[in-house]
Amino acid sequence: MGERKNNKHRGFKFPFGGPNLPNPKPFGGWKFSIIYILILVVGMSLFNYVFMNRVNPTIDFSEFKAKIASGEIKRVELTDAYFTGYTSLKPDSRPAPPIRNPYTAAVSGAVYRTVPINDPELIKLMDEKQVAYYAVSREGSAILNIIFSWVLPIAFFFFIWRFLMKRLGNMGGNVLSVGQNRAVIVAEGDIVTRFSDVAGVDEAKDELVEVVDFLKNPKKYTDIGGKIPKGVLLVGPPGTGKTLLARAVAGEAGVAFFRMSGADFVEMFVGVGAARVRDLFKQARDKAPCIIFIDELDAIGKSRINNIAGGNDEREQTLNQLLVEMDGFDATSGLIILAATNRPDVLDPALLRPGRFDRQVLVDRPDLKGREAILKIHSKTVKLSPQVDLDAIARLTSGFVGADLANIVNEAALLAVRGGRTVVIQKDFEEAIEKTVAGLQKKNRIISENERRIVAFHETGHALIAAFTPGSDPVQKISIVPRGFGALGYTLQMPVEDRYLMTEEELLGKIDVLLGGRAAEEFIFGKISTGAANDLTKATDIARRMITDYGMSSRFKNVALTQRGAGMLGGSQTQEPLLHREYSEATQQYIDEEIAHMVEKQYARVKERLAEKHSLLNTVAGLLLEKESLDEKEFKDILRINA
Ligand code: ADP
Ligand code: MG
Ligand code: ZN
Repeated sequence: MGERKNNKHRGFKFPFGGPNLPNPKPFGGWKFSIIYILILVVGMSLFNYVFMNRVNPTIDFSEFKAKIASGEIKRVELTDAYFTGYTSLKPDSRPAPPIRNPYTAAVSGAVYRTVPINDPELIKLMDEKQVAYYAVSREGSAILNIIFSWVLPIAFFFFIWRFLMKRLGNMGGNVLSVGQNRAVIVAEGDIVTRFSDVAGVDEAKDELVEVVDFLKNPKKYTDIGGKIPKGVLLVGPPGTGKTLLARAVAGEAGVAFFRMSGADFVEMFVGVGAARVRDLFKQARDKAPCIIFIDELDAIGKSRINNIAGGNDEREQTLNQLLVEMDGFDATSGLIILAATNRPDVLDPALLRPGRFDRQVLVDRPDLKGREAILKIHSKTVKLSPQVDLDAIARLTSGFVGADLANIVNEAALLAVRGGRTVVIQKDFEEAIEKTVAGLQKKNRIISENERRIVAFHETGHALIAAFTPGSDPVQKISIVPRGFGALGYTLQMPVEDRYLMTEEELLGKIDVLLGGRAAEEFIFGKISTGAANDLTKATDIARRMITDYGMSSRFKNVALTQRGAGMLGGSQTQEPLLHREYSEATQQYIDEEIAHMVEKQYARVKERLAEKHSLLNTVAGLLLEKESLDEKEFKDILRINA
C-alpha cells in the first residue's frame, strides 16, 4: 500500500523534495496559517485597487442612458458584464481595437459603468448621438480570467490539501515533510551538558570518556594504527540518562551533535527513512568531527529475522541504509555514531557486528551512591534546608532511575512552594517520593524490604558459590537494584577466556553456581521462593545436556541420545534445534530421574558449602543490602578480609 501511495506522490509537481531527492527543500517549515489567507485577501484588494478604481461605481441604466442623451458620454464599451461609458474619445481617435483591456487603458475624463439591460433603444440613441460604441470580447480580461478561473481555485485546493495533510501528518507520519530531515542539529559550543551533569552510571561514563578522547585526538589513535570505534550503543532502561550521556559526550568533545530519534526515520512511504539516513550522514560528514546520535534505535533496528509475516519494507530499507552508511564512512573522519536503546534484545544482529555498534555501554539503574549523586546534581539549583538528608532520600528510592530522581527534586520544590516555604525540607521530599512510588508500584519497580533481603541473600549465594568453585568465572558485579521486568537482582560473571570445551567438573560447577541462589534462600530463611525459576531452568538444561548430548551419565556413558542440527550462523549452542530423539520411553524416564538426581546431589553440595561460609554469607548480603551493588574489587576485598 505504501508503494502505491508513494508513486502517486512522486507524480506531484509541487516544489518540495520528493522522497529520493538528495537534498530536499525544507518545505515543511512553511506553516499553514490564517496569515496566508490574509495575504491573499490583501493581495486581491490591492489588485482591484490598482486596476479597477478608475471606474466610477456602477450607475443606474436610466442614468447611463441619460448621460448618452445629454452627450456627456462619447464612447461606450460593451461587454457581457458591463456597459462602460467614457466622456472622452480615444486619444488617437482610431476605432477601438478589437481586443483591449479596459482596466489598463489610459483614460482621461470620467468613466461610467452600468449593468447592461437588453434595450434596443440604446443602440438607436447612440447612433443618433454619434457615440462610438464597440463590443469588447471577454478575452480582453484574460489575466483576470486566468486568475479567477485557474489560479484561485488551484490555490484554494492547495491550501485545503495542505491543511488536510497537516492534520494527517499530526496523526501519523508527516506526509509533507517526506525526505526532509528532522535531525536536531546542535552546533558545537551550544551543548552545555558535561559528564559532571551525569551521575550514578560510572562504568558507562568511563567508557565514554574514551570516546571523547577519540573525537578530540583522533591522530593519537590513528598514528599507532588503531581503529576508532564507529558506533557506540548505549543500552539501558528508560530514564537512566542515555540521552544525557550522549549530549555530555558531544559537550565534552566540543563537537557538533546531530540528534534524531529512530521513530523519525519511520515514515508512511517506503524509501523516505532511507533517504533521511542518507541525508543525515551526508550532513554529518560535512560537519565532522561530530556525533550522530540516534535515540531509540530499536524503532528502526528491529531484527529482520523475526519479521516473517511480510515484514516492514520501509523499516527494513531504512535499516539497510543505516548499515550501508555505517560501513561507508571512514573511521578516521571523526564521525562517531552513538545510539541508545532500551530493547537491545530486539536489535538486528547485523547492527552489532564489528565496524558498526561494536561497543556496547550498559547504562544501568543507579545504586544507592549513584542516586545520592544524582539527587545532588538536580538539587543544585534548588534551595534546600540544611536539614535535608540526601542519603536518606537515596535510601528510600531504590529502583528509581535518574529521570525519576530529577522528577522528585522538582516535585519536592513544588510542594515547598505550595506549603509556603522558601526552602525545601525533608518532608517535601518524602511526600514527593510517595507520590512517585504510587506510580511506580503499578510498574512493579518497587520491592518490599523483605523481598530485598531475600534477593540479597539469593544473589550472595550465587556469588559465594562462584567464588569458591574452582574454575568458575570470577564475579564481576553483584546487584540488588531492581531491574523492572521480573529480574530483581543479578550476579554478573565474566568469562576469563573464550570457552569451546568444558569439562564435566566445570559443567557441574556451573550448575552449582545456578543453584547457589535458591540454596542460600533456603539456608537462611528456611523457605524457598519463585525467584530462582530462571536459575533452575538453566541448571536443568545443563544437566539434561550432560546426559543426552555429552554422554556424561553412568548408564549412557559416551552415548549421544539426541541429534542436533546445525544452529543459525553465529548462534549459540542452545539455539540449535533439536532434530529428533532416538530413545525409548524407559530411557526418557531414566533421563528425567537422572536429571533430578544430579541436581539434587549438586544442591546438597551447594548447601553444605554455604553452611561453611555462613558468616561470610551474612556479611556480603548485609553489605549488599546497604550498598545495593558490589563490584569485583569490593567483593574480593570482603573475601580476603574474612578469609
Ligand atoms: P534516557 O535517554 O535514558 O531515557 P534521559 O537521558 O532522557 O534518559 O534522562 C531524562 C532526564 O533525567 C535527564 O535529562 C536528566 O535530567 C535526568 N537523568 C537521568 N539520568 C540521569 C543521571 N544518571 N544523572 C543525572 N540526571 C539524570
Ligand atoms: Mg532518551
Ligand atoms: Zn538467581
